[in-house]
Parts: sequence; C-alpha cells; structure tokens
Amino acid sequence: MRKRLASMFMKAVNLALPPRCLGCGLIVEQDDSLCVACWSGLSFIRAPRCATCGVPFETDLGEAALCAPCMEERPTFNGARAAIVYAELPRKIMMRFKYGGRTHMARMMARHIRLAASEWLDAPGSLIIPVPLARWRLWRRGYNQAGLIARALARDSAAALMLDGLVRRRATASSGGLGRKQRFQNVRGAFRVAEKARPQIKGRNVLLVDDVMTTGATAGACARELLRAGATSVHVLTWARALPFKTLDS
Ligand SMILES: [Zn+2]
Ligand SMILES: [Zn+2]
Repeated sequence: MRKRLASMFMKAVNLALPPRCLGCGLIVEQDDSLCVACWSGLSFIRAPRCATCGVPFETDLGEAALCAPCMEERPTFNGARAAIVYAELPRKIMMRFKYGGRTHMARMMARHIRLAASEWLDAPGSLIIPVPLARWRLWRRGYNQAGLIARALARDSAAALMLDGLVRRRATASSGGLGRKQRFQNVRGAFRVAEKARPQIKGRNVLLVDDVMTTGATAGACARELLRAGATSVHVLTWARALPFKTLDS
C-alpha cells in the first residue's frame, strides 16, 4: 500500500517536474539520465586498457600490457577502472546540479561505473570506501561526491559500504596546475585509515571510489594506507578518467 502511494506520488511529481537531462536540462523519460545528445557526447572507456591504471589504449597490446607511467612506477593500487574519459562535457556535468539533485547525479555515475567494472563490484566480500574530502571542502560544499557515488554503487552490488574508512590527515593544496610529480608530493601522507575501521579492512578487497582520477596520486596515497592496514587488494573505481597530456583541471 505504502509502495503504491509512493509510486502514485512519484507520478504526480513527474507530471509537475518532469525528469531532466543531467547534462543540459532537456526533458527526458527517466530520472538520473542524460538525453541522447549528451549520452553520445561521453566517451565510454572499454578494453584495450592498461592492466593497472585502466587508461585506454588505442591499440590492443594484450591483457597484461601497462602504460608508460605504470611501467616506470607501478601504482600502489592493484587496478583501476573509470567509466568515461574526462573532458569538457563530464566536467560540466560534475559542476552543476541544476537539473537534478546530486543524488541523481551519483546514481547515474554509479550506473556508468558498473558498466566498466561489474566483475569487481560483484565479487563477494568486497568493501567500498570513498576517497574522503578535506574537511573545509566538505563544509563548504556540504557533501562528498565520492561518498554519494560509493553509496549508490553499494546499493546495487554485493559489496559492503564503509563511508568513513579513510580520513584526511591534513588538507592538500588544490592540485590544479600541478605537474605529475608535484601531485604525488602534494598528497603524500594526506590520508589515514580510521582507527575503528582497521579490523574490518584487514583481509578485505577494497574498492576505492572517487569521482575523477587524474594522475592517480590521490588513489595511490589512499591505497598505500589501506594496504598498510591489511587490505588484501585495492581496486579504484572512478566515474571519469583524465587522460595524460590533456590539461583539463580537476
Ligand atoms: Zn542533455
Ligand atoms: Zn597505467
């Protein structure tokens, strides 16, 4: 009965406030979605890709192939997948919540991530942990985008959710305009595993969630702490992935 009432209520709401494309605001059929034009403006990442950081390759070099930065220095995490390439449109989508709440946005991002990494999400016994936001940013923005995506991912997966497994030890400077090396220095020692989370992290496969991966410095710093705390493996899931040599700021 309550369910029926809720669905009637949603229908009434949809009549009054039809769902809008999360990219451009055009009226669409379904909540948490994009119009055809925005959808086709995203470039979804598929194989072939780097076996460790997930960056897409133009030619297939085999399943175990690594990209140049990973060959030079193997990341601390065991693997990473992103749903789409970070470019102008994804950036716009992330910047504005005008046409839908941020929960809608997170649900869409989670759906996209699932397309890229369902085998990780469906593996039994995993633990989903978001990259924490600096406290002052959280205060200013009022929410952690990574936390919202993590929550949406956990809803449709076998993995357990731990929202506060990682904490920021100190604020990091904005990474915009920093080179690769500086980004790694910037996040060194910036994260730690929450004391109360340690027993649950030990012996688990952790799925680390963030909205965008740029150099992988943040994910790497978080993964190091999780592995130190006894995690069996750390796989990184992000909605978007900035490609090397592209200079969009994140
Ligand atoms: Zn659109
Ligand atoms: Zn790589």
